[in-house]
Amino acid sequence: MDNYIKTATEQFETLLREQVARTERMAELSKPVDYANLDTLVIGVCDGDGIGPIICREAVRVLEYLLKDKIAAGKVEIRRIEGLTLENRIAKEKSIPDDVLAAIKECHVLLKGPTTTPKGGTGAKELESANVALRRELDLFANVRPVCVPELGIDWTFYRENTEGEYVLGSRGVEIPDVLCCDFKVTTDLGTERIARAAYEFARNNGKKNISIVTKANIMKKTDGKFARICRQLAEKEYPELELEDWYIDIMAANLVNPAIRSKFEVFVLPNLYGDIITDEAAQIQGGVGTAGSANVGGRYAMFEAIHGSAPRMIEEGIGEYANPSSIFKAVEMLLRHVGYAAEAEKLSEAMKICTADDAKVKVTGDRDGATCAEFSDYLFATIQ
Ligand code: NAD
Repeated sequence: MDNYIKTATEQFETLLREQVARTERMAELSKPVDYANLDTLVIGVCDGDGIGPIICREAVRVLEYLLKDKIAAGKVEIRRIEGLTLENRIAKEKSIPDDVLAAIKECHVLLKGPTTTPKGGTGAKELESANVALRRELDLFANVRPVCVPELGIDWTFYRENTEGEYVLGSRGVEIPDVLCCDFKVTTDLGTERIARAAYEFARNNGKKNISIVTKANIMKKTDGKFARICRQLAEKEYPELELEDWYIDIMAANLVNPAIRSKFEVFVLPNLYGDIITDEAAQIQGGVGTAGSANVGGRYAMFEAIHGSAPRMIEEGIGEYANPSSIFKAVEMLLRHVGYAAEAEKLSEAMKICTADDAKVKVTGDRDGATCAEFSDYLFATIQ
């Protein structure tokens, strides 16, 4: 027993030192890019697996259509990056092969198709999810998910902290066999401040006032207590116009399905695990896969993607061309807003509303009875004003 406790104590010291070192690198990585003053904005595109190449092909058509003048003037470059495929990742035994990561780091923002994560026990090396690896490598600290259901009065934007909490040391807990085990949760001052700032900047730039800080600070007193306190202090000092509310995660999970209260919420700031859970609940309220895009935003880099996976069964059944591109188009809209192309984003958003309405002329069902991905894009281009 003493030996286990001694080893665990030593491991704890190593973890603490690593985490302190991480916060020291954080300040440099968190500096935002001034997109307006770039000579050329480079948008990288990684197709991914399964239906990824099909929906990405259409997403690139949309980008090229909306940004044709900027591309012609050399203000924007769309750069295809090959090799973020399951086959290549298995061959190189890396969740992101080195040359692919280097190419991604040459871009400013990334549009990414879904990537398949090999299941354990298939004989393939146990590769980490490419997404988890990208979030870490590019320090994408904010997972941003808008959820909008106008007919229910819902217009929410979630800012989930993406690099800390239970996830950063999730596979490095300690165990005394047959007695107990212990995992670690990490909240840093800088990590909390940068997610809160990202959420508040969004609120300020988009005319939102209501901010919900969602934690379990009554139980997790150190980590969540600190998270809530730093969020509040930053707002009081630099964003006095915002109206902050503190909520516990359990009651917020209930609030989201309570029509009497949910329309007043606008922007949410959450630690990693609560954000993971509650954004899926919110996406379900909106209508599930296909209806939401996802942004993973850092200082230097930002990555945009559909929220669904690679749908391998659609490829096996030969119906990949019938995949619904709505979710990746939503991601394109988020990318455009992120880099400051609000007018182009608005055009896309308005056209998507028409093309996905109940009376739309072209419908994608995900099967042969519906339109193909390409037919849906053609309809979108005909609709864009
Ligand atoms: P999935 O999202 O790929 O599929 C779930 C269901 O939704 C399936 O029936 C699928 O056919 C359908 N579907 C998904 N996207 C669709 C689209 N655009 N149009 C029509 N139907 C669509 O989820 P899964 O089957 O759990 O995962 C498959 C693979 O994707 C796994 O390897 C998983 O790890 C990976 N994945 C990747 C990401 C990512 O890269 N961001 C996200 C989730 C899952």
